[in-house]
Amino acid sequence: MSEAIDNRQIRLARRPNGLPERDDWRLTTESLRAADDGEVRVQIDYISLDPAMRGWMSAGKSYIEPVAIDDVMRAGTAGTVIDSRHPDFAAGDHVTGNLGVQTHAVAAGDELRKVDTTLADLPVYLGALGMPGMTAYFGTLEVGQLAAGDTVLVSAASGAVGALVGQIAKRYDCRVVGIAGGAAKCRYIVDELGFDAAIDYKSEDIAEAVGDRCPNGIDMFFDNVGGEILDVALANLRLHARVVVCGAISQYNVTGHIGDTGYAPQNYLSLLINRARMEGFIVFDFADRYPEAAQHMAGWLTNGEIAHREDIVSGFDNFPDAFLKLFSGENFGKLVLAVDS
Ligand code: NDP
Repeated sequence: MSEAIDNRQIRLARRPNGLPERDDWRLTTESLRAADDGEVRVQIDYISLDPAMRGWMSAGKSYIEPVAIDDVMRAGTAGTVIDSRHPDFAAGDHVTGNLGVQTHAVAAGDELRKVDTTLADLPVYLGALGMPGMTAYFGTLEVGQLAAGDTVLVSAASGAVGALVGQIAKRYDCRVVGIAGGAAKCRYIVDELGFDAAIDYKSEDIAEAVGDRCPNGIDMFFDNVGGEILDVALANLRLHARVVVCGAISQYNVTGHIGDTGYAPQNYLSLLINRARMEGFIVFDFADRYPEAAQHMAGWLTNGEIAHREDIVSGFDNFPDAFLKLFSGENFGKLVLAVDS
């Protein structure tokens, strides 16, 4: 007989209109069932809070099905195996998987990845050694076709993805300029991450600042925020520039729909004039190459060539408020919820 466990879950109660509200989710508790053959019971220790979760709450065409009303909210997680009926997993193993916003889960073995917590702490596997790390790696090197000597501009530059993009570009001898909100984040990306310059979009005129810090134009713009910042970057492209559309967080709450954006870029003809390319991507498309990226990222992390920063909020019940920090810029680093229950 396996131990009886209460599993607490955050379920989607309704689709948000604009910025999500607490009542868009509801808390439920149910008894965790026993594992069947090939399954594992997991105690979830950390839940990844990602901007994409906002899109998953909305109906409409996207790259993935929306979370259904009453389903457990989809999320990446990291945790500890409680008991196992799968030959590759044993109690005490640390694992990651998309197990959702809940305190425990029963998962099939092939949904889980075993991770080595002697190499890095568990939350790092939700950041630099997890999905954001893969996003930065493939977005920069494959989609962005980074080349030595490029001038690289990256938005949301102190965040989970942006901070890694800039540091990867520095490894390839690029000149890197980051856009971030506030003096502390701007100081961090220059002083601690080694970016060449920063732009505080909350206190500077963004058009003037990009012209000033990228006087010869931009070879690669890695965009996480969309809106006016994207438009200004477009106006400053160099010949054969690449614009990587990773995300558009400034637009996610404008309408109920991920495909609709409130701000339509004006300066797209810069793509024609500069024979430039603008391409969106979804990290999952590179899933079969994650081991290659994970090996590079782990090498850079353990050599101290790439720094990482996690912003950990404690308490399962704090999920809604913690998640909303992404949209106010209150997170500083990869945002993670520590379950603590
Ligand atoms: P971050 O850690 O960067 O957190 C989000 C940051 O966005 C905030 O801290 C804030 O930073 C900034 N931000 C929020 N609102 C605005 C706004 N209105 N204008 C400008 N900046 C804003 O998140 P992630 O690194 O996890 O994600 C970054 C982007 O990458 C998101 O757009 C996400 O959707 C996307 N993404 C895409 C993937 C893909 O496969 N295409 C995979 C993973 C992520 P500040 O204080 O500097 O404003």
